[in-house]
Amino acid sequence: MRISGWGNYPVIDSSVDSPLSPTQVEHCMLAGFNGIARGMGRSYGDSSLSSHVISGLSLHHLLDFDNETGVLRCQAGVTLADILDLFVPRGWFLPVTPGTKFVSVGGAIASDVHGKNHHIDGSFCEHITELDLMLADGRIERCSATHNRELFHATCGGMGLTGIILSAGIRLKPITSSYIDEVTLKAPDLTAIIEMFEQYLSSTYSVAWIDCAARGKRMGRSLLMLGEHAIDAPLRNATPHNRSLPFNMPEHTLNRYSIKAFNSVYYHRKFFARQQRRIHYDPYFYPLDGVLHWNRLYGKKGFTQYQFVLPQESSAEGMRQVLERIVSAGRGSPLAVLKSFGRENDNFLSFPRQGLQLALDFKINDGVFEFLNDLDSIVLDHGGRLYLTKDARMSEAMFKQSYPRWQQFMDVRTRYGADKVFNSLQSKRLGI
Ligand SMILES: Cc1cc2nc3c(=O)[nH]c(=O)nc-3n(C[C@H](O)[C@H](O)[C@H](O)COP(=O)(O)OP(=O)(O)OC[C@H]3O[C@@H](n4cnc5c(N)ncnc54)[C@H](O)[C@@H]3O)c2cc1C
Repeated sequence: MRISGWGNYPVIDSSVDSPLSPTQVEHCMLAGFNGIARGMGRSYGDSSLSSHVISGLSLHHLLDFDNETGVLRCQAGVTLADILDLFVPRGWFLPVTPGTKFVSVGGAIASDVHGKNHHIDGSFCEHITELDLMLADGRIERCSATHNRELFHATCGGMGLTGIILSAGIRLKPITSSYIDEVTLKAPDLTAIIEMFEQYLSSTYSVAWIDCAARGKRMGRSLLMLGEHAIDAPLRNATPHNRSLPFNMPEHTLNRYSIKAFNSVYYHRKFFARQQRRIHYDPYFYPLDGVLHWNRLYGKKGFTQYQFVLPQESSAEGMRQVLERIVSAGRGSPLAVLKSFGRENDNFLSFPRQGLQLALDFKINDGVFEFLNDLDSIVLDHGGRLYLTKDARMSEAMFKQSYPRWQQFMDVRTRYGADKVFNSLQSKRLGI
């Protein structure tokens, strides 16, 4: 099969196995599997790409639910969309969700995904009670934050490089309605949005859209969107989406002028349209899921997402330098998301750490990689790092400098023989 991540870059040929049960996964291991696990392919770069891939999507059974504790046990191929469909009407929600619901539980654990509530609830794996992992030799090992701790902390955020996650327990969160009360606030520049993140730290959900094409005094102008679960509204399922982008858009659809125009209209329109509203959780958390295959907007060469975090103390200055570089290169992005993270967790390769993070999409075209190398220098100079699940191009040197626990991760990988069996294009590029 031809496979790629969500950025459609790179695209490779791969032989894909889809085992239907843990026993069939074991057969793959014993038959000499060498490659990586894959879920819904929503990681942007090359972390789920290898010449041989095991798709976890056929392991899609719910195993058990405890109505008292809210702990759901399910197989790793169950998607967040499946969980929401079944549990929202019963008054339960995901403790943490990324900006798409079309990801598998295995993928969410392997990337230790974060959401708009990271500053309060941390990342996805902090709500995993335990997980079952198939090791390189076909054995199944159960691990958690208290049992087989090192294996757990290497697997959570470990990009599939310790084994195949078979199943997990997730602690769901009780809700009384499927609606969110959202407030949108305008920040005229970068200093203002940083202060506002501080000021609204107690809001359950917070995220900002930043106009990365604005220059001068307006540089960093943003819209901060705060959200709380509504209490006095119904528990209702989302309506299914059927809009889709049917083909790759022409190369020139997104250019510096169309992006600048979009950003300016969005900034003024959204703000003046409605500052306070009650909105269903589906468009609130997953606005991009409303159009299937929206990634085709970037054309057939694809795109890459540049997502980085800077430590608290250097966030303001580092972010200013990155935005200046983007504006002067005329390489803005229409979907730029700024977020303030809470504390770092114990997982060896998890991305979040206390500070500001920014995510921007860049079309693959002439000069884009040289430009991103420039941004890398700014991120490194300010003590930051890139998110592995979005990455398709980071250098080994940058990875090892910015993920200081990579050696502990490698020790676990070697101890369980995973380094000989599980690898992706990304792991080879990063030297792990
Ligand atoms: C529109 C959009 C918005 C997003 N928003 C966010 C966000 O807000 N926050 C965030 O953190 N992420 C976000 N993401 C990224 C996404 O949540 C992660 O990339 C997630 O890991 C994708 O899951 P997947 O099932 O598609 O996994 P894949 O992309 O298939 O794989 C991702 C990684 O998980 C590993 N993996 C998958 N299944 C298994 C398994 N069974 N066992 C072991 N390893 C496995 C793969 O080897 C790979 O390393 C977004 C992605 C999109 C497309």
